[in-house]
Amino acid sequence: MSFELLNRQPQVKEYLGSALKKSRLPHALLFAGPARSGQREAALVLAKSLFCEKGILEGGCDVCVQCRQVSGAAHPDLFILEVQKDSKVIKIEAVRELIARAGLRPFQARAKLFVIDGAERLNEDAQNALLKTLEEPEGSTFFVLITSSPERLLSTIRSRVHPLRFLPIETGAEKSPEIDLLKRRLLSLALGDSASASFGVGMEETDWSRLDREILIKVFEDLISYLRDLLLIRVGVPDLVAVGHEKLEKEKTAARLEEGALRDKIERLAEFKEKLKENANLRLLMAALTDELEHT
Ligand SMILES: [Zn+2]
Repeated sequence: MSFELLNRQPQVKEYLGSALKKSRLPHALLFAGPARSGQREAALVLAKSLFCEKGILEGGCDVCVQCRQVSGAAHPDLFILEVQKDSKVIKIEAVRELIARAGLRPFQARAKLFVIDGAERLNEDAQNALLKTLEEPEGSTFFVLITSSPERLLSTIRSRVHPLRFLPIETGAEKSPEIDLLKRRLLSLALGDSASASFGVGMEETDWSRLDREILIKVFEDLISYLRDLLLIRVGVPDLVAVGHEKLEKEKTAARLEEGALRDKIERLAEFKEKLKENANLRLLMAALTDELEHT
């Protein structure tokens, strides 16, 4: 598993490569970006880079015991914390266990890596419990917090982690003119632009039976990611918005929107995205969404 896996996130690849080479990797990193933009894979690449017996910093050798155990999700120095099935939050007991482990020396590698996948699922108590550990980690201990919702992290957490922004990955399938148009319509509707008055008409023209549900879910993820950037600018953490990624335009848009309204819209769109996954009738669902966005 080499750094080539990070080719779709060149800024992340460059940063990690350079930090590892100079032995200047921050002890706590934040991988922020939309779901499925490769954060988890990047964390595993990082684990191999830190653990590999051959000292191959760019993603490990994939052959030695350390690398193979990372691939098999069985490395004793790689600890991945994520939300359990049937639960919406990462339990504080699990965080306490992580903290206790963080104080121990590595079992077999040169370092140990703790990954919290879905860090927005840590409630306030859990985040507070983590603060001290993130601030003063033992020398060979590293943390990666993965999140698609960095605005849900406490500012005290955000100030202790080095942020790396993952961009949405384009699969190509969503690059049709029809999808582009749908994206623009949904965005203008979500932003409450005057153009949205004609939105309902456009929506009726859409032949939902021709749209792939997976692509539509991706459209929603992109839309949520865009609104989240606006929110991050609005609440004063623009560092997490990728430089050059329509940033200027986003700053202008963010200036005229209310923080509370943005949070509401993000939440509602996320709920609709979940319903899309549950096989709800597309036409009815989108009609309900149109109606709701027009009135919030
Ligand atoms: Zn190796």
